[in-house]
Amino acid sequence: MPTLGQHRAKSFLSRLYNSGRVPHALLFAGQTGWGSLSLALDFARLLLCERPQVYSEDSGSNSELQIYCGQCNACIKTGHLAHPDLHFSYPTVGTNAVSTDYLKEWRAALGETPYFDANAWLQRLGAENKQGNITKEECNAIIKKLSLKAFEGRYKILLMWLPEYLGKEGNRLLKLIEEPPEQTIFLLVAENADLILPTILSRCQLVKTDALSDDEIAEGLQQERKLDANRARQIAFLAGGDFHQALQLADNPEHDDAAMFLDWLRKCWRGNGVELVKWTENFAKLGRENQKQFLHYGLHFLRELMAMIVTQNPEARLRPEELKTAQNMAGVLDFDKITQLVSMLNDNIYYVERNANPKILFLDTSVRINRILKDG
Ligand SMILES: [Zn+2]
Repeated sequence: MPTLGQHRAKSFLSRLYNSGRVPHALLFAGQTGWGSLSLALDFARLLLCERPQVYSEDSGSNSELQIYCGQCNACIKTGHLAHPDLHFSYPTVGTNAVSTDYLKEWRAALGETPYFDANAWLQRLGAENKQGNITKEECNAIIKKLSLKAFEGRYKILLMWLPEYLGKEGNRLLKLIEEPPEQTIFLLVAENADLILPTILSRCQLVKTDALSDDEIAEGLQQERKLDANRARQIAFLAGGDFHQALQLADNPEHDDAAMFLDWLRKCWRGNGVELVKWTENFAKLGRENQKQFLHYGLHFLRELMAMIVTQNPEARLRPEELKTAQNMAGVLDFDKITQLVSMLNDNIYYVERNANPKILFLDTSVRINRILKDG
């Protein structure tokens, strides 16, 4: 699929390409779910394409973009992620692991969608609660690969997804990024630029991506999942600009997070111990991804509630039954209490990702929500 939205970054990249002076190192900064990886991959394909084309955007911006043709020899190879001059590097698990050990998984993941996140990727590798990293061995492998001549004569490209996982091993690549061999281009795709060595950052041209608009997400869902316009729009509201999140929501229609969240809040409000234990036992059976999705819904609900209170506007991006609960809650919650709830749900996402015991975690959270709701 073509990269959704990102008009600003796309036209910036087109200008770079047309200038004939593509920098040695570019850092794409933004969530993978916004499309930063997708965009970097498109740019790599453009750089290698034998017959690039001009594409006129009609979505308001009227800009002309340089795009890959999708049909030449190089495009066919890059399309299969099998071009000899396009190398990938990404977090892996296990000591001494290098990216090519997981090339099959990488191709499968990108074949499904370039919109995923680090957690989804590491789960795919069977990481459970192991941390991913980009190892010393991988850095050495990169240095070796890039010392070879380009096979097909244009560019040699290293696309590294999540260089923040390099940690201090990044020092090994400094010299290469500073004085790269001829025709070598680094495309780094980072979610959190703060975690990258400043010495690397300072050598990169920054390409910022933005959170997607609801319209862009809804359109993407209609194309990718053939959802009807209404359902696509509902999911877009919940996805917070992140297409990975949107796909997760679209692919798990069996739960109604909204109904479950409102039910949970009512039980927390009543504070009946037996009822809360029973709720957390059922909730624990849902599995980690569903629990996370539920928490993301909760954050969306609280954000809407907060906006409703701050702007004094009773309309929010919620369905009728959610809106009714939100209006009731607006009466008992103030800004400070909602902030406390938001930070608790955010913490829980972090704990769930790290395999916390859901029964203990959510029972404790339920009790704390009860205190926040009833306090004052
Ligand atoms: Zn091409």
